[in-house]
Amino acid sequence: MQVLVIGAGVIGLAVARAAALRGHDVTVAELTGGIANGVSSRNSEVIHGGLYYPTGSLRARHCVQGRRLLYDFCASHGVAHRRCGKLVVATDDAELGKVEGILRQGAINGVEGLEMIGGNAARALEPELCCVGALVSPESGIIDSHGYMRALWGELEDHGGMIAFETPVERLRWQAPHWHVWFGGRDPGTIDFDAVVNAAGLGAQALARRIEGYPAEHVPRLVLAKGNYFGFAGRPVFSRLVYPTPVDGGLGVHVTLDLAGRMRFGPDVEWIAEETYSIDASRADAFYARIRTYWPGLPDDSLVPDYCGIRPKLTGPGEPAADFMIAGPADHGLPRLVNLFGIESPGLTASLSLAEAVAGYLAD
Ligand SMILES: Cc1cc2nc3c(=O)[nH]c(=O)nc-3n(C[C@H](O)[C@H](O)[C@H](O)COP(=O)(O)OP(=O)(O)OC[C@H]3O[C@@H](n4cnc5c(N)ncnc54)[C@H](O)[C@@H]3O)c2cc1C
Repeated sequence: MQVLVIGAGVIGLAVARAAALRGHDVTVAELTGGIANGVSSRNSEVIHGGLYYPTGSLRARHCVQGRRLLYDFCASHGVAHRRCGKLVVATDDAELGKVEGILRQGAINGVEGLEMIGGNAARALEPELCCVGALVSPESGIIDSHGYMRALWGELEDHGGMIAFETPVERLRWQAPHWHVWFGGRDPGTIDFDAVVNAAGLGAQALARRIEGYPAEHVPRLVLAKGNYFGFAGRPVFSRLVYPTPVDGGLGVHVTLDLAGRMRFGPDVEWIAEETYSIDASRADAFYARIRTYWPGLPDDSLVPDYCGIRPKLTGPGEPAADFMIAGPADHGLPRLVNLFGIESPGLTASLSLAEAVAGYLAD
């Protein structure tokens, strides 16, 4: 089949590669001039274990399965990564109950090697840490996400696929037996495809509304939750990822490390109405307060605004977190069309598993 994938973020690239490996003739249309210019370049680059997500959810299934596939992919394709492990820390007895709950959920989700340790054992691992107990997740890690996406792109091209940059998809119409697709950009025009995957990230809902005959009630709302990061201006003190207990909308202001060993903190949760990437430096106050609950040694004036990303959420503050939404023909009634909505964290980790699922839909 001639398959069009819309969006060259980590999800579109993984789907395009999976479809190309299955023998389809794949084109990726990307609005911007390069790969990974959207949500995929503005995250923590953490390979998540799969601890938090509700039993039976797509996030639980694809995070755990995707993580296993991702480590294998990194090993076989020379993508830099480190299985550094993670601690989810409890700073008082109330949090201890929450962390134990995360352990139970992780075990149900099939996450390997989880164990609870006491405060002293946690300090033996990370001497700067202050906590009454911690959950150890040895399978969590970090990845060079750009190296990963370049590897996906390379494999797509090796299997005959291509990416058309500066090529926004403007609208689509099913005209049996094809999808008739209108492109804008440098070289506007129309082309027919057999199948279409909408992996447009923050643009997925807007695009779905421009698919003729797509039921409006099947386009979920888009809620933007910005996550701000602050870099640490000093020598890193942790060698593992350190997470507090989750908050509404996010996993809590945690310690993330990159492969160069730099340490930063974030992301927090800032509900916003419009896409904006400026960082309010005064948010650092809340960072100092939260981080010092588990790292009292955080020096004054050591946090500097770094970058931010926007989570494409389907639910707002105070509402239960929504699952990933993979809307295929059985959901919306149009043939050979898959829309991906709400692919926030752990989308990077889940990407290879999600891609398998989406490529499976195309065969229907
Ligand atoms: C703050 C933050 C931290 C995160 N941390 C992690 C983490 O540590 N680990 C993890 O597993 N996940 C994490 N995630 C989640 C992960 O980053 C996302 O799930 C993933 O990057 C989503 O990728 P995507 O391809 O769906 O979207 P994107 O990367 O945004 O790609 C969509 C692409 O579609 C293009 N596009 C839009 N409209 C059109 C159109 N009409 N025509 C053509 N192209 C179009 C855009 O230009 C864009 O390039 C985090 C997310 C955030 C926001």
